[in-house]
Amino acid sequence: MEHGNLHFWMEISREHLAHNLLVLRQLASPQGDIMGVVKSQVYGHGVATAALLSSLGLRKFGVASLEEALDLKKSGVEGDIYILGGFFPWEAEAIVAEGFIPVVSQEEEFESLVKAAERQGRTARFHFKVDTGMGRMGCLPRNFTRSFFERLSLSPAVALCGVMTHFSSAEKDPEYTEWQFQKFLAFLKRWGFWGKSLEYHCANSAAFLVFPHMRLALNRIGIALFGVSPNGEPELAKSLGLKPVTSVRARVKLVKVLPPGFRVGYGGTFVTSRTSRVAVVALGYAQGLFRALSNNLEVLVRGKRAPVIGTISMDQVMVDVTHIEGVEKGDVVTFIGRDGEEEIRVEEVARRGKTIPHEVLCSFGRIRHRVFVE
Ligand SMILES: *Cc1c(COP(=O)(O)O)cnc(C)c1O
Repeated sequence: MEHGNLHFWMEISREHLAHNLLVLRQLASPQGDIMGVVKSQVYGHGVATAALLSSLGLRKFGVASLEEALDLKKSGVEGDIYILGGFFPWEAEAIVAEGFIPVVSQEEEFESLVKAAERQGRTARFHFKVDTGMGRMGCLPRNFTRSFFERLSLSPAVALCGVMTHFSSAEKDPEYTEWQFQKFLAFLKRWGFWGKSLEYHCANSAAFLVFPHMRLALNRIGIALFGVSPNGEPELAKSLGLKPVTSVRARVKLVKVLPPGFRVGYGGTFVTSRTSRVAVVALGYAQGLFRALSNNLEVLVRGKRAPVIGTISMDQVMVDVTHIEGVEKGDVVTFIGRDGEEEIRVEEVARRGKTIPHEVLCSFGRIRHRVFVE
């Protein structure tokens, strides 16, 4: 974990990523496969991580937008790229030309896709999304008309390859999730989609890990690929054998001794109560460390936990290392990951930051120095 001369960096474990992919694909089989959801720069890990997943055999990738799909294609991934977040009419041409698979929620989107496919003389594959209770993208079952159904199923320029829905509360509300699932099945049956050779999918990581009966032909897995529990409880990921992929580290830039009663950092939100040894570390909110974690975070130094003290600055943070022997300039400090016997998980940082693990990873996506390790 000594990455040359870098001040701060993200480490991505190839071995753990490969292991997690294997575990998840085993859980998905025999009836289905995994779509790696790699939006927002692969949850902050950079598109090279999608290329790595591709080299590990993953062949289905989900992104939010055309722009992300183009980025991903450039990175060299093989297989299908699904655009999960909808698109504008002016993007249809490029989507068809590149062979991306968009998810359609509205007739207007659909018709722009048909036009582009007709103009290019190609068959455009697409998925249809029904909103069973998320209130975001997708068509409400009550707004799905017979004429839209016929256009979807019968237009020769396009091919309906899948139908999906998305859960609003899979990590915390089993009842509502089951209700949405039943609504999804009812929709598929009502319109005769069920039993066709279509890709059905509803599960995100939370639903996939917790509700085996919701594992269908395709499963949209984001956070679990990184060995992180979608519900913020490390036990869930651990119990399934998923291993943390991500580490975030930075170096000590200065160690100094402060007398008792000395203010530390902007606003003096921390005052030393004793003679204290303080390490100034090269990571701050510009690198994705939430400022709201000021005075409310532990990091690892020389294999031991140490508290962050004072307000987190733009590129620096102070850590009390009074209790740790021999800390010196250049030492590596771990914000996420393992150091010796100790470990700080994404879930812990999320809980302290009163957010979800997804946001923690995306936030650390601001760290451009990424290092693949075994
Ligand atoms: C982001 C996203 C997912 C993946 O969610 P995780 O909780 O990271 O597994 C699945 N489906 C859709 C539509 C998404 O936007």
